[in-house]
Amino acid sequence: MTPSSNLKAFADSITATTSPFRSYLSDLHRQYLPLTDGAVADYIPELALADPSWFGIAAATVDGQVFEVGDCDQTFTVQSISKAFVYGLALEDHGRDYVNSKVGVEPTGEAFNAIVLDEATNRPYNPMVNAGAIATADLIKGKDGTERLKRMLDMFSRYTGRSHDIHVPVFLSEKATGNRNRAIAYLMLNFGMVSDRIDETLDLYFQQCSILVTARDLSLMAATLANGGINPVTGDRALDQRYVQDVVSVMLTCGMYDSSGDWAYRVGMPAKSGVGGGITAVAPGKLGIGTFSPPLDAKGNSVRGIQVCQTLSQDFGLHPFNAAAPPRDLAAWINGSEGTNSW
Ligand code: GLU
Repeated sequence: MTPSSNLKAFADSITATTSPFRSYLSDLHRQYLPLTDGAVADYIPELALADPSWFGIAAATVDGQVFEVGDCDQTFTVQSISKAFVYGLALEDHGRDYVNSKVGVEPTGEAFNAIVLDEATNRPYNPMVNAGAIATADLIKGKDGTERLKRMLDMFSRYTGRSHDIHVPVFLSEKATGNRNRAIAYLMLNFGMVSDRIDETLDLYFQQCSILVTARDLSLMAATLANGGINPVTGDRALDQRYVQDVVSVMLTCGMYDSSGDWAYRVGMPAKSGVGGGITAVAPGKLGIGTFSPPLDAKGNSVRGIQVCQTLSQDFGLHPFNAAAPPRDLAAWINGSEGTNSW
């Protein structure tokens, strides 16, 4: 950061603690903390250790202000949220046509871990289901697994502005129990849809699911997509502008497991969730939202996270197809004035 961007960060941090938007987020946190529906993922023992009361809400604007309430520094594994961002890296590595020839963009209506490929093309349906995510991980360039993982971690760092590690026990558990993912990968290998470094790619996929993030990170990742691929705090480009629309579109159609249609209908913000309890949601041109709360509904989405995103969407008119004036003006709430709406 330059000295002037340090000054700006300092000024923004003052706004972020005094803005009415921060009080609004605190009220949301207070409102939904008592929600105790849902269950923490327990398909591997490490995830079952999560405290169901952990709850963080973070929002980052495209002009680089970050608002955090609750457990926004608590790390957890990114899990399926990684799929959207790794898809962006694959697009950068190979371009749209080649990636489209390996992974489709159709919602499936099937479980995220279904062993199913498009019968006509043998492609996985989309990059957000496991088959598509493994095929996408296969596309990540690098001379070996270490270099490919480093490229992924570096990509996450560009989105979040900090360095990332994987949670090794989660990785080892995912690997030890991942026979279904291995079955999917070998089916794709049988059809020639993935390269024969399949065991290395499976490790890479299990590692990408095990990357540690926070709610703050998820808000910055979404804000970077909302900002055309440039991290609004660091100014670093995380994703080539040409592919932002591709990533955000599949988030909208396929990002929330089997509730993607319901989510598009009620919330509308392109989003991706993971079984670690995170949700990252994009309001293009405005802000990114990151929520963290481990208890999941039957579809695998964080119960509190859904409520937070739905309420934010309704209150500030963040559904992209909502043409009515929203109940609250986002810019005015963030800047603490009823000034001009710059969005
Ligand atoms: N690691 C999980 C798997 O591959 C994905 C978890 C998720 O959907 O968030 O099965």
